[in-house]
Amino acid sequence: MKVTPNSNVSSTDKNCIALITDIPAPADFEATAVSLLNLAWDTVSSLSHHVERSELEAWDECGEVTDEYWAAAQKPLGNAQALIQQGVEFLLKARIAEVSPFLLLDRAVREWPKESATRDTKYTEFRTVDAQDLVRLFNTVRPTPLDTAFVQRIEEQRKTRNTFIHSVDKSLKHDPQTLWRTILDVSHHLIGPAKWIGLRRAYLESTPASIAFSTDEVFIELAWECSELLEMLKPAEQELYLGILPKARRYICYRCALECREVGIQPEMAQLQPNDPTSTNVYCFMCGHTQAVDRVPCASAGCKGNVIEAHDGVCLTCFSDQPPKD
Ligand SMILES: [Zn+2]
Ligand SMILES: [Zn+2]
Repeated sequence: MKVTPNSNVSSTDKNCIALITDIPAPADFEATAVSLLNLAWDTVSSLSHHVERSELEAWDECGEVTDEYWAAAQKPLGNAQALIQQGVEFLLKARIAEVSPFLLLDRAVREWPKESATRDTKYTEFRTVDAQDLVRLFNTVRPTPLDTAFVQRIEEQRKTRNTFIHSVDKSLKHDPQTLWRTILDVSHHLIGPAKWIGLRRAYLESTPASIAFSTDEVFIELAWECSELLEMLKPAEQELYLGILPKARRYICYRCALECREVGIQPEMAQLQPNDPTSTNVYCFMCGHTQAVDRVPCASAGCKGNVIEAHDGVCLTCFSDQPPKD
């Protein structure tokens, strides 16, 4: 990747001037950040899966083993926290680089790499701005400054991370739900509203395991994560981070149900769009698909559903097959 910072430079001029080369694009910073956030998210998922599979909570009546488990989990959770912090830094860089990647170059011009004015110099040879100055830089060059409360939260986390790396204070308690919330918060403020689940899905689909084996597990894992989130998040957070209407009914997503048929679950992650009685579409926040539906009563006895998947004729409330349309 060789980028010419000044597109007016003609090819003849290029022979006699020096350029900064290999300039990272905002998308490069963002891709790194998203992968770090996903690794941190994975840590929480796998710790919670172990609790579930061992049925720890069921047999550990006095809670002693559970306490021991979470004490042992502090190290991986602390590492996950450090990954999130790195992710935040890369996202701040991505947003600043959208204005110009050169804003991230640190130091006075006289301290730039020797001969940078007479030969091509790679972007990575320049010193870039310290992590602690990124928020200030962001707020100076972006049209809208960061939310103050969000800045406070990420600043606190930066300090926690430093304490974790440099001490360690044994009393520090990393809590898995807080880590997931932090990732959702970071994604909301620095990537965009309700973007995380889509990024998570793309990440799971591109893991080496998905490539080597298959993507069969992706939707099963995602369905588990989404139901954990629905249980954990307050209604306002569900709306903010997942883009769903917490008070509106959720229906089975036909596509997600087919993807999860091996384990026999039918994720209820779809909502009418728009949310009104005549609406003929449902949108699923888990797979990101919009599906056409017929608004007719379900034929199954005892089911009050009237949202029927339009193509194969399946009730999205009870998942029963409907008689063929006339
Ligand atoms: Zn779906
Ligand atoms: Zn039904």
